[in-house]
Amino acid sequence: KAKAEGKAHAQIFHEELDTEYRYRQRLKAELRACVAAKGLSLAYQPLIDLRTRRVVACEALARWHHAELGTIPPSVFIPIAEETGLISDITRWVLETATRDCRTWPDEVSVSVNVSARDFRIGNVADLVHDALANSGLAAHRLEIEVTETALIEQRDAATKVLGLLAREGIGIALDDFGTGYSSLSYLQALPFTKLKIDRSFVADIATNPRSLKLLSNVAQLGKDIDLIVTAEGVETDAQLDLIEANTGIDQIQGYLFGVPLPRGKVAQIITRMGQSARPATRKQKQG
Ligand code: C2E
Ligand code: MG
Ligand code: MG
Ligand code: MG
Repeated sequence: KAKAEGKAHAQIFHEELDTEYRYRQRLKAELRACVAAKGLSLAYQPLIDLRTRRVVACEALARWHHAELGTIPPSVFIPIAEETGLISDITRWVLETATRDCRTWPDEVSVSVNVSARDFRIGNVADLVHDALANSGLAAHRLEIEVTETALIEQRDAATKVLGLLAREGIGIALDDFGTGYSSLSYLQALPFTKLKIDRSFVADIATNPRSLKLLSNVAQLGKDIDLIVTAEGVETDAQLDLIEANTGIDQIQGYLFGVPLPRGKVAQIITRMGQSARPATRKQKQG
């Protein structure tokens, strides 16, 4: 009996794997078609300067809405794009679209674009950036490239070379999700970063855990000491915002409190509104 059961389980396991495999194969094919048809969209999430309360930048985040499969998150399709090499076409498209959209925003608002390890391996990141800037006419200092520690581990030499070149041209270079990778501090020394984006896991429980707050403020101080702009990701509550303001030297915040990633039209409205208001939208509503 046990043997029969084991066999049945193996069968189910096999079918699940098969379904999973076929689903991924389908996603690959669909993603390829979607990218070719320029069917992805971009959402923009504002980064707020804590001192002025103005939008200083927006991060471009790729979105894939599939007619039958629904919305597929970047945590699913970006790895597929990396695996298949499609990422290069996506990065090109994101850079072109984001720089073009940024040109419609006030001069003091920049745009940031995520670049992956595979892009560095393919080796055309500088070309993609230069093409996007030339086609859009956006000033170099209004573009920022975000890279993760993971990308740097995989492609350290290629990334160091390209990012050095782009930094000399005035393009911002941000270390994204800081603290979640292997966090080798030597990256901070060797690469031309202009910004440190502290991962949202460092923000998540600062309101309930004093050690977390200490950790966040010390990581922020590390960034400030080497003259980086320091951003906190994932700020969701007023309590977190107040603690960050009172206890850390963090310059900019990004998170659901000030705005979720929004389509181009909506983010333009937020830029206009925050340009005039001194408080986050959510607080203004609460105060009546
Ligand atoms: P990321 O670059 O760290 O982007 C920030 C992610 O955190 C976004 O998720 C954003 O929606 C989410 N987020 C922002 N504020 C909050 C908050 O207050 N709370 C919580 N819980 N989450 C918040 P998203 O859009 O799902 O993107 C996930 C990741 O996918 C990105 O992380 C980035 O690594 C990657 N990604 C997205 N678009 C692109 C792209 O165009 N190219 C590449 N290479 N990667 C991309
Ligand atoms: Mg990012
Ligand atoms: Mg990030
Ligand atoms: Mg993150």
